[in-house]
Amino acid sequence: MISSFTVATSVEHALQLKREAGSQGVFLAGGTEINRLGTQLTGTIAISLANLPIQSKEKGKNAVTIGTMGTLQMIIDTGFVPDYMKVACRFCASRTRRNMATVGGNLALQRDDSYLMPTVVAAKARLILATLGPDGSIVEENIPIREYLAFKDHFSDSLLLAIVLNKPTRFVSSKRIALTEQSMASVTVALGSDLSSKEIHDVRLCTAVKGSGVFRIPEIEETIANGTYEPVDEPVVFSLPAVEFVDDFTGSATYKRYILGTAIADLFRECRAALGKGGQT
Ligand SMILES: Cc1cc2nc3c(=O)[nH]c(=O)nc-3n(C[C@H](O)[C@H](O)[C@H](O)COP(=O)(O)OP(=O)(O)OC[C@H]3O[C@@H](n4cnc5c(N)ncnc54)[C@H](O)[C@@H]3O)c2cc1C
Repeated sequence: MISSFTVATSVEHALQLKREAGSQGVFLAGGTEINRLGTQLTGTIAISLANLPIQSKEKGKNAVTIGTMGTLQMIIDTGFVPDYMKVACRFCASRTRRNMATVGGNLALQRDDSYLMPTVVAAKARLILATLGPDGSIVEENIPIREYLAFKDHFSDSLLLAIVLNKPTRFVSSKRIALTEQSMASVTVALGSDLSSKEIHDVRLCTAVKGSGVFRIPEIEETIANGTYEPVDEPVVFSLPAVEFVDDFTGSATYKRYILGTAIADLFRECRAALGKGGQT
């Protein structure tokens, strides 16, 4: 429960407040998770990001930059944002929540039913984030989103500033499987690939599986890239020691493996069909 609320006046101020608050500090963006009944977040000191200049969306020659305070609905309403990103934002079916929920909050959470994380990993997006150095000065970094996914704890005190989509011709497609649009997803999965050489290469396959977390599947990325992947509608098989499929209210472990396997096969067929069309979805 939030017991203290401060509006940060600058990025530096937000980071200073977070440092002072320690594990009790949370950056309040849209607040949809912080204020959600049953949230696992335990911080009590809210640091509002509402006045920070991290909402803008910009289109450069080969890149679209989205400030992390941009809401999911703002992304959908911005013409130049790639369609695959809009599809991922629509995975949040409630327009009311899309009007509040931010890109930064979604990426920071990395929920096991994450709307955006699989898609931005498949897109090979980059993340601009800020931390405070030991002397209190701001250190800004521009990292691949896969690094943020792989080393989540390392970045737990960082403030996400913007996401950069800088692969304009990349094929990216995502699927979310849930009982209804409003239900929690059992599986969300995205496939990305560079098709510019008229072959599928530089593949990223990332999934969020309820109860298991968000992870890439390098084994299948490799088979897709080297041409040995067979798109069969069967339960997915791979060995990632840290990943265990579990039974829960969204479906059994067997169901999740099956539904993930069929979704990957579908995404691969889409990707193959996009070859020759320049790759864009
Ligand atoms: C009924 C309901 C269902 C939901 N279902 C889903 C779902 O299926 N999938 C899903 O992914 N989410 C779901 N959510 C959670 C939420 O709506 C989204 O993840 C949303 O995008 C979070 O963004 P926010 O701005 O509201 O985050 P907030 O609630 O403001 O913050 C969430 C976390 O992100 C951190 N944070 C926020 N902004 C930044 C930043 N710029 N830099 C660093 N850290 C930051 C905060 O410290 C906090 O820990 C659901 C929420 C509700 C209420």
